[in-house]
Amino acid sequence: MMENSLNIIEKMNPNQKINYDRVFQKVRESWERDSVRPKILLHSCCAPCSTYSLEYLTQSADVTIYFANSNIHPSTEYTRRKMVQEQFVKDFNERTGNNVQFIAAEYEPNVFLQMVRQKHLENEPEGGKRCTSCFEMRLDIVAEKALELGFDYFGSALTLSPKKNSQLINEIGLDIQKIYDVNYLPSDFKKNNGYKRSVEMCKEYDVYRQCYCGCIFAAKAQGIDLKEQNREAIKFIRNQS
Ligand code: SF4
Ligand code: SF4
Repeated sequence: MMENSLNIIEKMNPNQKINYDRVFQKVRESWERDSVRPKILLHSCCAPCSTYSLEYLTQSADVTIYFANSNIHPSTEYTRRKMVQEQFVKDFNERTGNNVQFIAAEYEPNVFLQMVRQKHLENEPEGGKRCTSCFEMRLDIVAEKALELGFDYFGSALTLSPKKNSQLINEIGLDIQKIYDVNYLPSDFKKNNGYKRSVEMCKEYDVYRQCYCGCIFAAKAQGIDLKEQNREAIKFIRNQS
């Protein structure tokens, strides 16, 4: 029986902001007590957030990275990030002797765009309601896959990013856990100098760091030249194949 983090959170001080790394550590203690090495399906949207998250988690679990990111625009950038993520998993395994797996969901950009339009979220600022829906959409897909493939937990590497609201991501994950019969793995990978270590690992592994979060709306608001981005991505894909 895998530890359900809702039981751990219930016992924590309700007046304090939840430290989700602390919750993770308590979940990990339960694995140690039961001498189990659980199977985790970890969502990631490009390589940087997966670097330290994998280093941290593979100490006590078998991890599969799930690339499920129909929010990314354009499709060439999606392919580029997917290729970089897959390559990082290979390089990480080679250097550390781990056996992290990689799987990818279908790329369905229309599903994301329809959701944004239906909810009128086009003009939301980054970090606003569009992002909440974007996290919900992706974590939902991850939970469903974890259930289908028999994983013990589903989680997200996004909590490593200082730009992402990890409290919100964890709350969404725990809400989804109530719908699907699979445990959410709470995390705050930026803790324990995790973010700093991810920057170091990106240098060590020569990982491409993207300059916008992923969707067309954030890219435009940031003034990203999407034509140039597309050309760069095509060049990258050609060089790799
Ligand atoms: S949050 Fe940003 S840096 Fe982290 S995996 Fe997603 S796109 Fe990459
Ligand atoms: S800015 Fe990032 S998290 Fe927010 S909606 Fe766009 S892709 Fe999703």
